[in-house]
Amino acid sequence: MKFANWLRRRSGFDTRAAEYRYGRDPVLGFTAERKHADTWVNSTCGYCSVGCGMQLGVRDGRVVSVRGNPDHPVNRGKLCPKGLAEHYTIEAEGRARYPLLRRKDAFVRVSWDEALDTMAARFRSIQTRYGPESIGVISTGQLVTEEFYTLGKLVQLGLGTRNYDGNTTLCMSTAVSGYKRSFGSDGPPGAYEDLERADVIFLIGANIAENHPILCSRLESNPGKTLVVVDPRVTKTAMMADLYLPVKPRSDLALLNAMLRIIVDEQLYDRDFVEKHTSGFDDLCQSLQEIELDAMARITGLDPELIVRAARLYANARAPFIGWTMGVNHSTKGTETVNAINNLALLTGKIGHAGASPFSITGQCNAMGTREAGFASGLPGYRKFESAVDRAELAQIWQIAEERLPTSRGLAYPDMIEAAISGKIRGLWILGTNPLVSFPNVDVLKQALDNLDFLVVQDGFHPTPTTELADLVLPAAIWGEKEGTYTNSERRVSKVNAAVDPPGEARSDFQIFLALAEKLGCRDELFHGWSTPADAFEEWKRVSAGRLCDYSGMSYESLETSGGIQWPFPAGSSEAPSTVRRLYGDGVFATPDGRAQLIATQWSPFPEQPNAEFPFILNTGRTVEHWHTRTKTGAISILQRMSPRAWLEMNPADAQKLKLNSHDRVDVVSARGRVIGVELRVTEIVGQGQVFLPFHFVETNANQLTQSAYDPISREPNFKQCAVRVEKQSGVNV
Ligand code: SF4
Repeated sequence: MKFANWLRRRSGFDTRAAEYRYGRDPVLGFTAERKHADTWVNSTCGYCSVGCGMQLGVRDGRVVSVRGNPDHPVNRGKLCPKGLAEHYTIEAEGRARYPLLRRKDAFVRVSWDEALDTMAARFRSIQTRYGPESIGVISTGQLVTEEFYTLGKLVQLGLGTRNYDGNTTLCMSTAVSGYKRSFGSDGPPGAYEDLERADVIFLIGANIAENHPILCSRLESNPGKTLVVVDPRVTKTAMMADLYLPVKPRSDLALLNAMLRIIVDEQLYDRDFVEKHTSGFDDLCQSLQEIELDAMARITGLDPELIVRAARLYANARAPFIGWTMGVNHSTKGTETVNAINNLALLTGKIGHAGASPFSITGQCNAMGTREAGFASGLPGYRKFESAVDRAELAQIWQIAEERLPTSRGLAYPDMIEAAISGKIRGLWILGTNPLVSFPNVDVLKQALDNLDFLVVQDGFHPTPTTELADLVLPAAIWGEKEGTYTNSERRVSKVNAAVDPPGEARSDFQIFLALAEKLGCRDELFHGWSTPADAFEEWKRVSAGRLCDYSGMSYESLETSGGIQWPFPAGSSEAPSTVRRLYGDGVFATPDGRAQLIATQWSPFPEQPNAEFPFILNTGRTVEHWHTRTKTGAISILQRMSPRAWLEMNPADAQKLKLNSHDRVDVVSARGRVIGVELRVTEIVGQGQVFLPFHFVETNANQLTQSAYDPISREPNFKQCAVRVEKQSGVNV
C-alpha cells in the first residue's frame, strides 16, 4: 500500500481501478504474491516484429504475469512496456466471447453452427449472383503462420476469390515490393546481430526507440558504431544519433539519390561486385546524371556538405547497416525509396556479410509469416502467380489441377475498398484488424462498408469501431490462447504457445477456418486429416522446401529448444539451428540470372502540398505505449494511463504565430475532415510548418485527415504527409 500511495502521489496514477480489476499488481509488481505463477509457458510477444521471447506465468488457470525469456536470442530477457503488460490483454474488458449475428439493427448471440452456416450461405449467394470475386477478404499480421497458410488455401481454393489481402499492405507491402524488384524475392537479408556488428548504422524513417525498443538495446550494445538518423522529426531515436539529418518531409529519396551520385562520381562503389552480381548499372548511372547536389540539398533541406559526408560515411564503412520502417514505407514513393536503399547496398557490395544489410524492420508480430506462407500478393513460399513453373510445382504438392491456381493476384486492400464502393465487392470478411481507425481517409472506408451486402468481422475483441458495423461477429482467440509460429524481422521463426483457453465460446482462428471449410464443403479436399496447427506446419514445411524461406529442417521441438530459428533452414542442414543466417552472402540473388537489379528512381513532391488554406504538413506515427488502434492496449490500464490521449506537436515559431500555447485544445483540419480538441504540445521535436499526430486514438482519429493516395507498385498508403490547418478548438462536431 505504501508503494501504491507513493506512486499515486508521484505520478498521478490512480491504482485503485486497476487493483479492483487485476489485484494490486498492474504497475510494477508491487504485490509480488499476486504475480506469483505456478507454471511458466514459453512463447513469443504478439505485438511487434522484433519477436521477443517471453514466458507467461500461469496460476489457477489464469495468466497472471509475463517475463522476458533470458535464453531467447532476440531480447535476452528484456521486454518493452507493451510486452511487460501483455498478459493483461487476455482478461481485458471487451473480449469477444460469442458469435453475434445482426438482426433488425441489434446483435443476437447465435451458435457457431448458425454463424458459420449463415456466413457460408450469404457468401455463396452473393457469389452466385455477382460472381466469385464479389467476395473480398482482409486479413492481418497478427495470425500465426499456420493460420495464414490455412486461410490462404481456404480463400483462394475454397471460397474461390482472388481478392485477398491483409492490413500488412498498410505497413509492409512497400518493403516487399522493393525487395522483390531489387533482389528477385522478398526477405530482409540481414540479422539483428548486424546492429551489433555494423560500424555505421543508418536509420531512415525508423523511430525504433518508440516502435521497436528492444532493437534499440541491441544497437546500444555496439559501442563502436556511428549512428546516422534520417528523419524530419527529432524522435527519441534521432536524439541517440551521432549524425542527425533533419530532412524535409518525404525527401529521403532525394537524399539517397544524391548519395548514390556522390558514390559513383567519387568512384567509391565496388566495381567488382557490381560487374559480377548486378544488372542495370549503366541505366542507374545515366539517371544519376540528372541528380544535382545543390538541387537535392534544397529538396532535403540539408547542407550539401552533410550529404557528401553521409555518402562517404556509408561507402567507406566496413559493414554499414541501413534500417527503415514506416517513414519510408508510408509513401507514394515508398517502393522506389526502398530500391534506392538497396541500390546503395548493391553499388558498394555491402550486403550479405556481418553488419552489412539493407534491412526492413517489419511492423506486426507476424507480418513476415503472411509474406512467406500467405496467398495474397504471391503464392506460398515466395512463388509468383505469373510463373507457370511455380504454379505447376505448387499444384503438384497439393495434388490439384494447375488451372485452379490464379495466374495473377486479386485486388489489394485499398482497391477492395474502392471495389466495395463501386459495388464489385459485395461481401467482405475482415480478420484481426480495425480499419475504422487504421485506414486512410476513413470516410471513404465507411462508405465502402455501408455499401456491402454482408460484412463478417473476426476479432478477439468486441465492440470495436469495426465490429460494430458487422453483420456477423466471429469471436477469436488471441495471443496466449493459441499455438503456432511467428516469423520476426530477421526471418527468425519462433514458437507461440497457448497458456489458457479463450474466453466464452471464442475459438482460435485456425479452428474457425477448418469449421468454415467444413461448411463450404472443402475441408476434406484442402485440409484432409488436419486437426491442429501442427498439421498445417508440416504441410507448410513441404511447400517451403527448396525455396528461399525454407522451413523444412525445423520442427516445433527444435523451435522450442533453440528459441527460434532463422530461415532458410533446409532439412538435413549441417548448420546448428542457432547459427546466424544472412541472405545473398554468395552474391547470388533470387532472380532468373542470379543478379540483383540496380533500379533508377526519381524523387517527386508528395501528393498534397501545403497551401494557403492548409499550411501545415501533417505527419502521423506511434507512441511506445500503444499498439496500432488500441483495441488491445486501450484496454490495459497501465498503458492507457501512461498515454491516455492523442497530442499534436507544433514548433514554437508556428505556435507563436497562431497565438497558441502548450496544453491548448486545438482542431486539426484537412480537406477531408476535422479532428477536434487535441492537446497541443509546443516543441522543437517538429520543424516549422510541420505538425505530428499519433494515429492510435479513435477519439481523435488522424485518418479522418489523411488522404487516399497510394504507392502505385505496393498500394501502400501515403499516411505520412497531408496538408492541414490548426485552429483553436471549435467545440463543434462537424
Ligand atoms: Fe513485444 Fe516488440 Fe516490445 Fe519486444 S519490442 S516486447 S516484441 S512489443
